[in-house]
Amino acid sequence: MPFPIPTEKIERRHLINGELCESSGKGTFKLNSPYNHEKITDVCEATVEDTNRAVAAAKAAFPAWAALDPPARGSYMKKFAALILEAADELAQLDAMSMGRPVSTYFDPYLAASWFEHFAQAGYDARGQTSLNTPGYVNMTFRQPIGPIAAIIPWNVPTMMFSHKVAPALAAGCTVVLKSSEKAPLTPAKLAALAHQAGFPPGVLNVISGHGTPSGSTLSSHMDIRLINFTGSGFTGRKIQAAAASSNLKKVVLELGGKSPSLVFEDADIAKSAGDLAMSISIIAGQVCIATSRVYVQESIAEKFKDAYIANMKAAKKGDPLLPETQQGPQADEQQFERIKGFLESAKQGKGKLALGGNATHVDGQGYFIEPTVYTDVPEDERTQKEEVFGPYVNINTFKTEEEAIALANDTEMGLYASVYTKDISRAMRVAKGFESGQVGVNCTSPFFATDMPFGGYKGSGQGREGFGYSLDEYLEAKSVMIKLD
Ligand code: NAD
Repeated sequence: MPFPIPTEKIERRHLINGELCESSGKGTFKLNSPYNHEKITDVCEATVEDTNRAVAAAKAAFPAWAALDPPARGSYMKKFAALILEAADELAQLDAMSMGRPVSTYFDPYLAASWFEHFAQAGYDARGQTSLNTPGYVNMTFRQPIGPIAAIIPWNVPTMMFSHKVAPALAAGCTVVLKSSEKAPLTPAKLAALAHQAGFPPGVLNVISGHGTPSGSTLSSHMDIRLINFTGSGFTGRKIQAAAASSNLKKVVLELGGKSPSLVFEDADIAKSAGDLAMSISIIAGQVCIATSRVYVQESIAEKFKDAYIANMKAAKKGDPLLPETQQGPQADEQQFERIKGFLESAKQGKGKLALGGNATHVDGQGYFIEPTVYTDVPEDERTQKEEVFGPYVNINTFKTEEEAIALANDTEMGLYASVYTKDISRAMRVAKGFESGQVGVNCTSPFFATDMPFGGYKGSGQGREGFGYSLDEYLEAKSVMIKLD
């Protein structure tokens, strides 16, 4: 693939009912580079009519897909996984162009392919149980696909999000309509073209591009969609849940934002914890749901830790996300940039002490860049300590006791990821038990998470779990069948 990809080679169409197609009425929206602000391409914008057509296709394809035996469904997924791997470099370029993700940090196609490879084999796990517990009866459960489902994904890791939603749904026997984010539609559109090449039967997988309204809201209130799996902000998650409740009460799976804490105890390896935690908030310029954005350090090591942390934060090389030496790219678009600038302003007005950065910036006079920013001693009720910034911004506070540290970590409406650094295994286990969080790192932190473990949030960070061995359950209904014996 030429570098950078020429405009005419960029896929910008929907995949509906087995066809790569433009929108009805030929509507498009403009996608600009967050690095040099130039137009990349015009992407097809799905109308209500396009969205309804995609749902109708998924509904029509459902009975035959659900009836296929698992290896037959898996064979399409294996082909798709191989095509994703072949297109890895192109996918990296597309996310770099659309949302500024540096190609040097791009591992997504390998993970995405592993999801399709895993779930290609997993269809046989969709089986029920037998019970002889009721005298005179043999009882059993059937596990059957819930029906056509919708997936709505965010822009920060679109290739991974695509695979986390689509692979288990298809393995369960569901058909899918996926809507990509208007900020990063290029990799999902490319994946749609690859799915077309893999030869999935028409309607089994439909992929549309467009904004929250009209296509996203049409999906969440659609009467023929039986489950909606959403990853994105809590703000939109609430709207989707309300739309689901007021339409057909479709099942809702939500993977939402975070305000992840880390507790660094005085016996921790300072160099390692500082390195890990700075990387956690720097990778993809802090635009990661599980980024560690609140660090609490035990008082006796606070100064040493802070110096080591700041040295790591300074190290990332900013620049063109398409260049291999770049470690920090721009924020995804002007809207995200302006949002983060609002948080920087709140921090300036607050009582915390600025230790690094604090400003928006440019590279070579362009791009939506934010300086890696560290504040210390920030009051717990300040906005930057409560809300997800989604940028390279961290608050470092101190604690005295383990009990106090756990209470501080849990003093949030979110609960996606939390970590603890200590050499004391008993303390690590007490703290892990105390965290109100779906994921816990012990002497490690995000973005590490294990794909065969359940991924999801406590409290306002979501509902439902994804992961090998877990996702399939979300897409299956359990039916109890009671057989009376003569
Ligand atoms: P967002 O909520 O703004 O948008 C997400 C998706 O929802 C987009 O496709 C958007 O078009 C769509 N949408 C917007 N309004 C809608 C509506 N009314 N009805 C239906 N769909 C609508 O989120 P974002 O800015 O794209 O992503 C960032 C957020 O995602 C952060 O909060 C981040 O923490 C979260 N996130 C969570 C996880 C996780 O696994 N928990 C992973 C990645 C990102």
